[in-house]
Amino acid sequence: MEKVVIVRYAEIHLKGKNRGYFERALAANMEKSLKGIRHEIRRRSGRYLVENFEESAADTIVKRLSKVFGVHSLSVGYKVPSDIDEIYAAAKLVCDDGGTFKVETHRADKKFYLNSPQISAQIGGRLLDGNKSLKVDVHEPDFVINIDVREDGTALIFNKFIKCADGMPVGTAGRGLLLLSGGIDSPVAGHMIAKRGMKIDCLHFHSYPYTNMQARQKVLDLAEILSQYTCGIKVTIISVKHIQEEIHKNCNGAYMVTLLRRFMMRIAERLALSDGDQCIITGESLGQVASQTIEGMTSSNSVVEKLPVLRPLCGFDKNEIIERSRDIGTYDISIRPYEDCCTVFLPDYPIIKPKLADVLAEESKLDVEGLIKEAFASIEVKEF
Ligand code: ATP
Ligand code: MG
Repeated sequence: MEKVVIVRYAEIHLKGKNRGYFERALAANMEKSLKGIRHEIRRRSGRYLVENFEESAADTIVKRLSKVFGVHSLSVGYKVPSDIDEIYAAAKLVCDDGGTFKVETHRADKKFYLNSPQISAQIGGRLLDGNKSLKVDVHEPDFVINIDVREDGTALIFNKFIKCADGMPVGTAGRGLLLLSGGIDSPVAGHMIAKRGMKIDCLHFHSYPYTNMQARQKVLDLAEILSQYTCGIKVTIISVKHIQEEIHKNCNGAYMVTLLRRFMMRIAERLALSDGDQCIITGESLGQVASQTIEGMTSSNSVVEKLPVLRPLCGFDKNEIIERSRDIGTYDISIRPYEDCCTVFLPDYPIIKPKLADVLAEESKLDVEGLIKEAFASIEVKEF
C-alpha cells in the first residue's frame, strides 16, 4: 500500500486545443513547488498523481501544492493492487472514527470481478462490521469513502477533498511587474493577477535611511509569501531618496506624492521593458487615499508610454482587500508598523485632485532624466 496525493486541476479542462500546453505548465509549476522533496508526478485520466514520497512528507506536499495556481483540489489517499482485501485495508485507514458515510466506487477496469455497486456494498459492509460508531447515509453522509479501480490493476482510495488555489498556471498569461510596497494592497493585487496565470516580478522603492531596514525586510517577507504562489519571484529594489529630497527642496510640498508617483511609474516602465515584463501592476483602489483619485491616477498614468497599467483592486473596498490578504497569508506582515517611502516628507495637505498642467509646472523644476538615472544606479535584486 502506498500513500499518494491526487491532484485535480481547475479551469484548464476548458482550454480545448491548448490544453496540453496548460497541463505541461501546471506540471512544471508543481515540480518547482515540490523542489527538495523526493516524489514523482504522473498524469492519469485528467488528473495528476503524486507518488513515491516519504509518508511523512504528505502534509508538506499538500501545503505546497494547494498554493499552485491551476490546482483545484487535492486528496491524500492510498494506492493498492486491485484486490478487495487490499482495498478494504486502505478504506479502513482513510475512514473517519465515527459518523455517517457512504462508499462511492468508480470502476474504469471493467474486467475487475466485482462491479461498482458490489465493491461499495462489500467495503461499506466490512467497515460497518469493524466499527460500531459508523452508520451509512447515502443521501447526506458526513464523509464519503471514494474508491477508484483503475485500468492498470491498481485502485485509489481516499476520503477528503482539500480545496486549493484554482486559477491558471503561472507563466501561461505573460509576465508583469508588480509595484510592491509594504502595505496590504499591493501583495493582494499581485496575487490576483498571478492567479490568472501571469508570471510576476516585483519592484520596491525605498528611501533609506528615512525608511529603515525593517521596512525593507517586511517587503522581502511579503515577496517570499507571494513566491509560494508564483513558483519563485524576483524583487528589484530601488532608492528614491534623492528624488524625494529634490522634490522637497524645489517643488510645492503639496505635490510630493503626485510627483513621486510619476517617477515610480517612469522607473517601473523602463525596468519592465528591459526585463520583458508586459505590464505594470499596482495595488491602487479608487478613492482609497488622496493619491488614488482618478485625477491622481491620470497624472501618474500619463508618464507610462508603452505598457498597460493593471489595477486589479480598483473596485474593491478596503475590507474586501483585507479579507483576501488574510486568506493568502500576507496580512500579518503587511500590518507591521514600518514606514513606506510614500510617507516620508508627507505634506499636511496633499493635492487630492491634481491638474496635469500644475503637475507639469512643478515637475519642470526637476532634472527628471538625471534623477531616474541616479535611481537606477541604486538597483539591487533579490530572488526567492
Ligand atoms: P499598499 O497597501 O499596496 O501600500 P496603499 O493603500 O498604501 O497601497 P499607496 O501608498 O498610495 O497606497 O500606493 C499605491 C500603490 O503604489 C501600491 O499599491 C503599490 O502598488 C505602489 N507603491 C506604493 N509605494 C510603493 C513602494 N514603496 N514601492 C513600490 N510600489 C509602491
Ligand atoms: Mg502603501
